[in-house]
Amino acid sequence: MKFLLVCAALCLINSLCMASGQKDIDMTMKKETIKGATSDIQVTFIGHASLMLENKDKVYYIDPWSETGDYSKLPKADVIFVTHEHFDHYDKDLIKKLSKPDTTIVTTETVAKDFGKNANVVVLANGETNTVDVVKIEAVPAYNIQHLRDGKNPFHPKGRGNGYILGIDGLRFYFAGDTENVPELKGLQNIDVAFLPYNLPYTMDKAMFEDLAKSIKAKYLYPYHTMGTDQKSIESIEVPESIVRIRKFEK
Ligand code: ZN
Ligand code: ZN
Repeated sequence: MKFLLVCAALCLINSLCMASGQKDIDMTMKKETIKGATSDIQVTFIGHASLMLENKDKVYYIDPWSETGDYSKLPKADVIFVTHEHFDHYDKDLIKKLSKPDTTIVTTETVAKDFGKNANVVVLANGETNTVDVVKIEAVPAYNIQHLRDGKNPFHPKGRGNGYILGIDGLRFYFAGDTENVPELKGLQNIDVAFLPYNLPYTMDKAMFEDLAKSIKAKYLYPYHTMGTDQKSIESIEVPESIVRIRKFEK
C-alpha cells in the first residue's frame, strides 16, 4: 500500500510541468521598469513563471505561485492571470490571499471549474479577447506538439492552456505560459515584451526558443520558466541583436 502511495505521488509530480526539486528557485525578486506611452510599467519577476506588473496604481499578477517568493510583502491584485491548471501556475490559496473583493481572475475553463465560477472570474479560450480595467487581453494557444508524456500525449494538450497578450499603456506584453513554438505563435505581431519558457520536457528546447523568439521579434525578450535549464545554456541563446534584445532582470 505504501509503495502504491509513493508511486501515486511520483506519478503526480511527474505529471506536472516543473522539473523535480525546488532548490533551483531563486527567491530574490527582480525588477525592471519599462516605459509605456504615458507612464512607467514596473515588472517584478518573482520566480519561475510568476510575475507582477504595476502601472498607475493597478497591480497585475501572472501565474502567482507561493513557492516562488514571499507574497506577504506584495500588494493585493487588481487582476490575476492564470495560464493553466498545473500547480506551478495555479495556486488557489495564494490567489485567494492576493484577492480583494473586486479582483478579477482571468483564466481557462479548466482552472475556473476548480476555482469556482463567479462574477469575478473571466474565462477565455484560445483566440478570445476581453478588456479588464484598462488592460486589453488576448488569449493565445499554449501547447506541446513534440514533447509527449510517456511518448503518447502532449504535456500540454492543444486548447486547454492560454498564453496572454496584455495591452498596457501602449505596450503589448506576451506571457507565453507552457508552450512550444507552435504555428499560431509564430504569427504573433507587434509584441513589445515577450516572456518565453525554456525548459524540458515541458516547454521548449533551445532551438524552439530561438525559432519562436526570431518569429515574434519582441523588442524585449525574457527567458522564463527555466527551472532545470542550465544557466550557461540560457546565456548562450542566440537571437540576432538587430531584431530582439534579450533582457536580464537586475536584482
Ligand atoms: Zn509550468
Ligand atoms: Zn504546465
